[in-house]
Amino acid sequence: MTGQPARTTTRRIRIRRIRVAGLLVVIAALAAALGHQLPASSSSTAVDVPRSEHRGAPGEADSTVPDGTTVFDDEISGVANLDSDLLAALRQAATDAADDGVEFVVDSGWRSPEYQEQLLREAVSKYGSEEEAARWVATPDTSAHVSGDAVDIGPSGAAAWLSEHGAEYGLCQIYRNEPWHYELCPEASDHGCSPMYADPTHDPRMQR
Ligand SMILES: [Zn+2]
Repeated sequence: MTGQPARTTTRRIRIRRIRVAGLLVVIAALAAALGHQLPASSSSTAVDVPRSEHRGAPGEADSTVPDGTTVFDDEISGVANLDSDLLAALRQAATDAADDGVEFVVDSGWRSPEYQEQLLREAVSKYGSEEEAARWVATPDTSAHVSGDAVDIGPSGAAAWLSEHGAEYGLCQIYRNEPWHYELCPEASDHGCSPMYADPTHDPRMQR
């Protein structure tokens, strides 16, 4: 390849990545390389996702996901270990969203209990108390990420697309304070999503 790759080229490559599964590995590497050359401020990244969810520490590569991971990246354990029905719904939604020019990025998917514990410790130090941290990060025992039943989708345009169309696929936002966090609610395709909890502390599933 000669010259500077233009952003439009990157975009075209990333869209094709969704469609041409056989080239996934090669293109993922390429997209990652190109992604690192882009100025961070020029794209609409998921700025509303807590920083701690992005950061990987050594030894936690098993459940952090590389930048630009899609719901089709089977070789990433954070994607592969998601519940198969959730993953199928996400892939259908992502395919239809791509037709609207919207690309889904997985900011966080399945997490190991150890990684969830680390996120919780970081949140306690960031928010100053366990009570406040509980509004943002669940324990390893209660987290829907650890059970493979939740995914954080970015960038904000993708979350907005899901907020409008997700229910058709059974994909629902659960917490009002986490517009990126989606879980599978199969009945939503008939009845729409249930009202959201203000934050995880209002979710009875978190009271274990
Ligand atoms: Zn989440």
